[in-house]
Amino acid sequence: MIARLRLPRSSPRVRRSARAYCEADNWSFDSRYTQGKCPICGWQPEGAPNAPDWLALVNRVDWQIVGLFLLVDVLFLLGLVVANAAGLLPVGHPPLGGPSTLGGVASGVRGP
Ligand SMILES: [Zn+2]
Repeated sequence: MIARLRLPRSSPRVRRSARAYCEADNWSFDSRYTQGKCPICGWQPEGAPNAPDWLALVNRVDWQIVGLFLLVDVLFLLGLVVANAAGLLPVGHPPLGGPSTLGGVASGVRGP
């Protein structure tokens, strides 16, 4: 998981030429923004990148796993909020944001 998310910094970055020229159409195009194909005839130059660098990086992330962990985190936080409101958390502190149930009275009774 972590290895998949790490940025590819181990090898020196080589700026690839993204311009391609289609002989059939006399058309020069940037294959990063045409999904690696000629926008007119669909010819696919060899070794041409089919996405910008940031999009290639985003496509490598498994967003379903990220969403699953985010959902688990949110549900765990929601469970803590509900358990705190129901007084199910270990004693030692009053429920956060609620009236104190441990001492009975929040503040001592003042004089006459
Ligand atoms: Zn073409």
